[in-house]
Amino acid sequence: MTYLTVSIAGIDADQFAERFKQAKAQGAEAIEVRLDGLADLTPDLAGQLITQARKSKLPVIATCREKDEGGARSFPIAEKTAILAECIKAGAEFIDCELKVFAKKDAFGPLKEALKAHPDCRLILSAHRMKGRFEDINILYETMLSLWPMAICKLVYPARHINDCFEGLDLLHRAGKDMIVFCMGQAGLMTRVLAKKLGAFLTFASLDENSATAAGQIPVGQMKQLYRWDRLDNETEVFGLIGNPVSHSLSPALFNAAFEAEAINAVYLPFRVEGDQEQFSAFVDAMVERPWLSVGGFSVTIPHKTHALDYVNRKGEFVDTLATSIGAANTLKVGFNGIVCGYNTDYAGAMDALTASIGVDPHALHQMEVAVVGAGGVARAVVAGLVDVGAYVTVYNRTAKKAESLAEEFRCKAAGLDALERANPAVIINCTSLGMYPDVEQCAVEKGVLRPDMTVFDTVYNPLRTRLLEAAEEVGAKTISGAEMFIRQAIAQYHVFIGAEPDEKVIRSVVIDALKSKTP
Ligand code: NAP
Repeated sequence: MTYLTVSIAGIDADQFAERFKQAKAQGAEAIEVRLDGLADLTPDLAGQLITQARKSKLPVIATCREKDEGGARSFPIAEKTAILAECIKAGAEFIDCELKVFAKKDAFGPLKEALKAHPDCRLILSAHRMKGRFEDINILYETMLSLWPMAICKLVYPARHINDCFEGLDLLHRAGKDMIVFCMGQAGLMTRVLAKKLGAFLTFASLDENSATAAGQIPVGQMKQLYRWDRLDNETEVFGLIGNPVSHSLSPALFNAAFEAEAINAVYLPFRVEGDQEQFSAFVDAMVERPWLSVGGFSVTIPHKTHALDYVNRKGEFVDTLATSIGAANTLKVGFNGIVCGYNTDYAGAMDALTASIGVDPHALHQMEVAVVGAGGVARAVVAGLVDVGAYVTVYNRTAKKAESLAEEFRCKAAGLDALERANPAVIINCTSLGMYPDVEQCAVEKGVLRPDMTVFDTVYNPLRTRLLEAAEEVGAKTISGAEMFIRQAIAQYHVFIGAEPDEKVIRSVVIDALKSKTP
């Protein structure tokens, strides 16, 4: 079992007691009592808090963290030893003691005696590095074991980049169940969630967003609901979104809800990969080369869609033809043999949104006049899809040169934004970022251009109802929200990942509810 351990600090006994109850109610599987923050800490008070924590009937870890290892203050050896010995006496199932303290003669002797007298209490021997990686994490692990072979070894360091996580994951994979290794900070998120898949002794979570006792702790509710803690096991397949930034993405909520609805043993994580092609390739290689991580695939977003395409091309693996012509892959599927194939589901999402909303099949778009406003990444996917079905596309863009080069590449027409006034297309698609939250008053198309017989599709999906869509509704035009494209590209991606259809209703409700809660 990997204990989902809620780490609890407080200012007095009452606050601790309240938080123990909250942790239990939220599904904690163990409690860590962080004593170091108490200004008036004595061995007696420590013992009382452990007794209080044990009323939760959850395993209790007593921790009195040293300042230079992330704690609130430093403790003289005699004081620290007395506090931990009292916690052992009070019935703590585990005490956490730093290697550098435990190795000192004045601590080792008394703590050894206390542990011998209470064989139900186990020692978590820990080392925390606050800056950068350990010099040699494997040697440190061996040192810990040689000092106390029955110890649960705990090694924690900050990940400055997501690629720093792998040496910790490797040690966890090698060492097995009596081991705790994770990386602090946002870049270490995967080490906290995948701890269960890799059979770690525990992972830490916070009570809520505001009470983390270390950088990067995930609230226990999020661990259970968003990251499907109760379902994770060593067979769990791993998916995720590679991008930068990724923290506000709807994809983890969407995919995890879809996996839950179909009872699929998989988890979807945000992978923030800073850097460019080199860091991107190193991350994908590191994930794929470790078959025990059971990676199933990745969604890819800004700034890595072109890196994803180059990665697959360099490996000589399959790339779908539209991903090649768009010049970007937003989906990587990892096969059982580690082969990585590239796809682009953005164009499929856009085309599905358009045809389903108009109520036609893609061939009905043949020879239809379509105005694409914008010439960036999304415009490329939309133009590629439209030209593929034979629509008559004109690209309108603020920077005319970009419109011209996009049009030349896809053999369609280009014009400046002002020319839109004189056009009368059947469909207008906004592919600029105008109108996106927080600049919601902006509108890519003048109202005078809109007519009742048009279809107006805004790829911006936050807010759900943009100024452009409001203006289109006012003139009686048919409207399509960017959320429709987002939902449909995710459905196409799910299909690539799993080879089956997801429950569309579940995906729709996650996306719509999240977007409604994001904007007033
Ligand atoms: P991008 O590559 O940066 O392209 C941005 C486009 O917007 C360019 O054509 C740019 O024109 C234009 N633009 C920006 N500011 C402008 C302004 N003030 N006035 C006129 N034009 C302006 O971005 P992208 O990746 O294509 O994304 C565009 C939007 O698509 C995003 O903001 C997002 O809301 C939406 N999106 C939707 C989905 C979905 O699934 N629904 C997925 C991804 C993105 P210039 O060339 O002149 O700079």
